Amino acid sequence: MRNITVLSGGMGGARFLQGLLHGLRRGDLPGVAPDAEVTVVANTADDWWVHGLKVCPDLDTVMYTLGAGIDRERGWGRREETWSIREELTAYGVEPTWFGLGDRDVATHLVRTQMLDAGYSLSQVTGALCRRWQPGVTLLPMTDDRVETHVAIADPDSPSGRRVVHFQEYWVRLRAEVPAEAVVVVGLDDSSPAPGVVEAIAEADLVLLPPSNPVVSIGTILGVPGLREALADTAAPVVGISPIVGGAHVRGMAEQMLSAIGVEVTAGAVGRHYGARADGGVLDGWLIDERDADQLAQLTAAGLRAGAVPLMMTDDDATAAMARAAVELVAG
Ligand code: GDP
Ligand code: CA
Repeated sequence: MRNITVLSGGMGGARFLQGLLHGLRRGDLPGVAPDAEVTVVANTADDWWVHGLKVCPDLDTVMYTLGAGIDRERGWGRREETWSIREELTAYGVEPTWFGLGDRDVATHLVRTQMLDAGYSLSQVTGALCRRWQPGVTLLPMTDDRVETHVAIADPDSPSGRRVVHFQEYWVRLRAEVPAEAVVVVGLDDSSPAPGVVEAIAEADLVLLPPSNPVVSIGTILGVPGLREALADTAAPVVGISPIVGGAHVRGMAEQMLSAIGVEVTAGAVGRHYGARADGGVLDGWLIDERDADQLAQLTAAGLRAGAVPLMMTDDDATAAMARAAVELVAG
């Protein structure tokens, strides 16, 4: 195998990719060339415009993580960050005060916004930003079109009893602490895959779904018209890794999002939600944590190759072992 394509959200996807590259480059993945090319198709439905800037959290988390520019403790944003711009904006009382952009990070958003204003596409901009960061993968946005996830929450003051907030407001201001009643992805149905995305899936030797959020990361990527079909049609095996371990997300908000779409918060239910390719779904294999091994039988019954191994991304070695187990599920 020489070409691996990975569909990714932000933090979960980026951590997985870092461990995958670690294992790959030292020749740890059975049947995969150590110099295999990795293409990442990243979710862009978390993107938004703020203070006049186009911010792409998942693209940047992958780019900074693989380019050694990430703040490792936070898991997002630039290392050695300073916050003067946020302080100055707060002093002016400029909304939204709950969304802090770091000074170093702002430079990335300025470059991106200027290039978009000059007529470049988001994929071209991402390519330009990656020339600095050298992430060691080809990083593609899922689409060049504007797509934005919104979350419906209860609001007794509204005539409908509901209010819709941007994904960033749900996550950053509300900290995903109020129940999500529905997820609405504005623009998704009318979007098209960015250049190279369909080819990356069609021509891959292996497609991996890291333990990214199944609804607002992988779910939105799969919702770009044509991408589900590309996964159904590719000759490459498609393997996913569960973001739910022991009935809970490890970090993030997969629990809230799965509940919003009516999927049980278990590794087995998420695997069945993606479904087997033989049965109209997107997966050949589904890797779950060893503490969820009681769910292997239901996955096999659903037509999936399933395995149970430790799935905590505690360091690059542990994550590389997960990637290896994912490859082993469909190798041979
Ligand atoms: P985001 O865009 O920053 O939310 O990141 P992703 O969508 O790529 O991944 C977030 C998901 O990763 C979370 O909802 C968790 O379920 C999952 N996750 C985070 N850390 C781990 C881990 O160590 N192991 C597993 N199996 N899943 C994890
Ligand atoms: Ca995200």
